[in-house]
Amino acid sequence: MFAGRSPAETAQVRPMQTSDSKTWKEHESATLNARPVARILIVEDFPAYRRFICSTLGESIDLRVIAEASDGLEAVQKAAQLKPDLILLDIGLPTVNGIEAARQIRKVSSESKIVFLSQETSADIVEAALSTGACGYVVKTKAATQLLAVVKAAISGTRPVTA
Ligand code: CA
Repeated sequence: MFAGRSPAETAQVRPMQTSDSKTWKEHESATLNARPVARILIVEDFPAYRRFICSTLGESIDLRVIAEASDGLEAVQKAAQLKPDLILLDIGLPTVNGIEAARQIRKVSSESKIVFLSQETSADIVEAALSTGACGYVVKTKAATQLLAVVKAAISGTRPVTA
């Protein structure tokens, strides 16, 4: 006869499982991996500031920097190639400025959301930047506290956000 536990009792002492027989940890990991990750292109001509942006966005697991560009033309080319979910765009850039680059990006990658990140604070420039169809505008002096929030709002919302 049967000396040990019955099959039903054996099942009860096994680790907690989900219905499709994954362990809890496997389930949690799969759920995390399934979160949509926004693919981001950073356009900034000052290398140290690019690193600052990367580390700021790196605080969030649902944002991933997939490429960097250091001038306006390179930004348009990489947008066309990679079709990023979101582009963080400086305005004062070599070759083509950020506002002109944004107009061209709208033609080659119309689904990409654009958030400007510039030292410019004048209302005219902010208005011109947003008139390209951009989703956000962050002044660089506020980036440390506002950048992450504006990027996330731009990804999930439809109205332009400024900070
Ligand atoms: Ca610049």
